[in-house]
Amino acid sequence: MTEEPPTRVNMEKIVSLCRRRGFIFPSSEIYGGLSSCWDYGPLGVELKRNIKEAWWRAVVQERGDVVGLDTSILMHPQTWVASGHLEGFSDPLVECQNCNQRFRTDQLLRVKKDGRYFTAPEGREDKLIERLGNAGFIAGTVTFEPTTSQDFLDDKDRLPCPFCEAVGQFTEPRQFNLMFKTFMGPVEDEAGVVYLRPETAQGMFVNFQNVLNTTRKRLPFGIAQIGKAFRNEITTGNFIFRSREFEIMEVEFFVKPGTDEAWFDYWLEERLSWYLKLGIKKEHLRPREHAKEELSHYSRRTVDINYLFPMGWAELEGIANRGDFDLTQHASFSGKELTYFDDGTKEHITPYVIEPAVGVDRSVLAFLCDAYDEEKDEQGEVRALLRLHPTLAPYKVAVLPLSRRENLAILAREIDADLRKLWMVSYDDAQSIGRRYRRQDEIGTPFCVTVDFQSLEDNQVTVRERDSMNQIRVPIAELKKTLQAKLAGEDFLVLPAGGKVWKEAEKGGV
Ligand code: ATP
Repeated sequence: MTEEPPTRVNMEKIVSLCRRRGFIFPSSEIYGGLSSCWDYGPLGVELKRNIKEAWWRAVVQERGDVVGLDTSILMHPQTWVASGHLEGFSDPLVECQNCNQRFRTDQLLRVKKDGRYFTAPEGREDKLIERLGNAGFIAGTVTFEPTTSQDFLDDKDRLPCPFCEAVGQFTEPRQFNLMFKTFMGPVEDEAGVVYLRPETAQGMFVNFQNVLNTTRKRLPFGIAQIGKAFRNEITTGNFIFRSREFEIMEVEFFVKPGTDEAWFDYWLEERLSWYLKLGIKKEHLRPREHAKEELSHYSRRTVDINYLFPMGWAELEGIANRGDFDLTQHASFSGKELTYFDDGTKEHITPYVIEPAVGVDRSVLAFLCDAYDEEKDEQGEVRALLRLHPTLAPYKVAVLPLSRRENLAILAREIDADLRKLWMVSYDDAQSIGRRYRRQDEIGTPFCVTVDFQSLEDNQVTVRERDSMNQIRVPIAELKKTLQAKLAGEDFLVLPAGGKVWKEAEKGGV
């Protein structure tokens, strides 16, 4: 048996759906938008919130060994000296002297064939395949090696520009700091310079002692945080994949030195299984080990969890073994002791840190891409749907009265109000029932509850499932319980007298 190749959805379809249905809009759009900043609409904000809640539940609530924190975006400027960001948080920037495009050397897609180089910008695997094809090379799939600054320097004169294809026209790489600078207080001078944080991690390191003192946690334990981060990225694009303002979810898990390697493997497994549990297809995820020369200044080991985005495989999450770098640096710069007293050995030790860090926006994109599907219905019409995991779906249920007649509307509104106590519910009474089902399918609502004239007689409603389109009649008194079980993923539920067994319901039959 041959394995199915992974499928990749078209980015235009995702962008258009997000805009049309109110998931994501360009920021300050009425002024022409602001490059690489995005606003989440009514549905996007629910999806994003659900992702953050699912993450928090998995890494904080369901564990006893991780606590949460919410630290400020602006921090003492020394933080960034100690962390190495002011000196080292920079990307190698080059400019093509022919077309004046600037790009990061480490984001260059590069392939060598018969001694000749082919290039494309990050995310344009399709362009590279086209260029290889034009030169007579058959390239169905291409594997890229990361381009380090040294690789770039070694091959600089023979590399074509990824944009205009002019060969060897590059300036020397120059380090470009990604930190956003601003001023605190009324005077804009050097003394007032502060930075917008490029990650939330440092807020957790500088609070290490506060957390330890107030929670009395023993090793191993972790701190988790979700918050905004800002990076003045050189090249952005691919929708919400890379932006200058984004949200990040990070855990700093402190362990005894010597146990760090095992904990690294543990967190890699944990994080992979989180995506799978929430419905991401296994064949769309791939861990990628960083080569030694690629590792950040603080990292002893890094593995990226890559996802098959519409533009190709790219980082979704990074897991790093930061050793004792951060606590040691902050202790030395602040003069405060950031150690842990080991009861067993009666020694003060500096714990090592394992850090799983993922962008909320990149996860939103990955979950949307993975859930998007199109299928033909019985009439041969294409139905677009988001097969989102119920936990993530913006609305869990839609209440649809068959007509706007008063007696039906009263009952439907009652049901709607009752379900709203538990979930986000969409009430829709506009247009035909078929169109309303399609609208809900397209935004990923797992269940539709249809209230019809029969409901007034028998106190039952029709529940329709998004993925299978199965429909069953459910007594109104049992509706909440039925939906609760179905949303929790139970695929078998015997309803009381008058109801049907969900599993046995005929497709489309009531
Ligand atoms: P990249 O190599 O893509 O620039 P990185 O390795 O610098 O990313 P980290 O510093 O490890 O990223 O950040 C952790 C996570 O934060 C990434 O895996 C990604 O999901 C997210 N992230 C980083 N930069 C951005 C950005 N500019 N826009 C959106 N998400 C981002």
